[in-house]
This record gives sequence, C-alpha cells and structure tokens, in this order.
Amino acid sequence: MRLILLGAPGAGKGTIANLLMNEFSIPQISTGDILRSAVRQATEIGKKAEEYMKRGDLVPDTIIMGIMEDRLLQPDCQKGFILDGFPRTIPQADELKKIMARLDITQDIVVNLDVPEDEIIRRLTSRRTCSNPDCQAIYNVISMPPKKEGLCDICGSPLIQRDDETEEAIKNRLETYLEKTAPLIEFYRKEGNLFTVKALQSQTVFKEIVKKLKE
Ligand code: ADP
Ligand code: ZN
Repeated sequence: MRLILLGAPGAGKGTIANLLMNEFSIPQISTGDILRSAVRQATEIGKKAEEYMKRGDLVPDTIIMGIMEDRLLQPDCQKGFILDGFPRTIPQADELKKIMARLDITQDIVVNLDVPEDEIIRRLTSRRTCSNPDCQAIYNVISMPPKKEGLCDICGSPLIQRDDETEEAIKNRLETYLEKTAPLIEFYRKEGNLFTVKALQSQTVFKEIVKKLKE
C-alpha cells in the first residue's frame, strides 16, 4: 500500500497517517517530523532548515529530496508507506515520480484532505504541543484539551505553541500552501488516482479512506 496525503497545514494529515499506519502496518513518513528532529539534533540539515520552518516557509526542494531519497530506500518502505507532508511542490512531485519509476513502483492513491480555511485557522491557533522532545503529544485547547491546563497528560511536561504556530507564521503557511502545494491537487487529478474527502472528523475520514482502498 502506497499512499500520499495532501492537505493544508492543520488538515489533520498527521492524525490520519497515524491511524492508517496502525491499520496497514506500514511506515508513516512525515517530512515535517524528520525536519523537526533534525533541528533538535542540530544536524547540517537541521541548521539549514530551521529558519525556513520558523517563518512558515517551505524548506528548499533539494534538501527535501535528499531526505526522501534516503528514506524511501529504507527496508521498512518495501511493504509500502504513507507520505504525510510530502510532496509539497510540483518539482517534489516530479522527482517523486522519477524515484518511484526507478524503484518500479507507483502510488495506490492520493488522498486530498479538504478542510475549509476558517476551520484550518481555528485548528492551528488552538494547537498545543508537548515540550518534551521524546513525547511531542499534540493537544487542542478547543477540541482536545489536556486534563490539567497547560500540561501534557502523558508526561506532565508544559505544553507550548510551536514557533510556526504564531498568527503571522500561520498566515504565511496558508499562503504558501495555496501557492505551492494546492496545485498538486490538479497534478494528481490528472494522474487519475486522487480521492478527495471532507476532513472534518478524523475517524470518519479514516473509515472513508479504508473503504475506498478496499474497492
Ligand atoms: P504542517 O503540515 O502542519 O504545516 P509539517 O509538520 O508537515 O506541518 O511541516 C512543518 C514545516 O516543515 C513546514 O512549514 C515546512 O517549513 C517544512 N516542510 C515539511 N515538509 C516539507 C516539504 N515536503 N517541503 C518543504 N518544506 C517542508
Ligand atoms: Zn508529553
């Protein structure tokens, strides 16, 4: 099973990817998670990526493709994978197509998680993340608050807003999404394997995707 998840920031790609990973026992590959981990460990890639990420800009395609070429060759990807947050530009999608052609594989489905913009903004501004790097649990002060205000249910560490979840960075991420990433919807529609789903409730979305995959 090879699956690509498209959607604006805050559309819930990570949550859905996680549910699919457990259902199909295939890895979830999130370029955002890989980059954040590189930033924390202050690797060469992390140092290059950090400023782009803080501003809510995309990290340059060359850096992303370096990461993904390595990742897709790892043995755990042989059974399949869920791409979450990649590709995010037309050049990345073109490169991915070449990599997959070299590996003699194709994607089964591209899921487009469709969420209205006002809902996206509400979700992103209300998101809180556990500050413990080994935990990083995600909460939402409106829809999924922690039991004790400001503290992680799992590990008790303080919850924080990510650098790229300030109002200004969020605005920039949405503009970047519309300009650079939204064109991928048309790109994959032309390839004929696009499945658009209204992404309001993650369990419903998950069930719809599983149903579609079984058709
Ligand atoms: P979200 O989908 O909520 O914006 P991600 O965790 O997917 O969050 O990404 C966080 C940041 O990492 C992005 O704003 C961007 O700077 C960088 N990033 C992640 N994936 C890519 C990618 N495929 N291409 C370029 N930049 C990326
Ligand atoms: Zn925690």
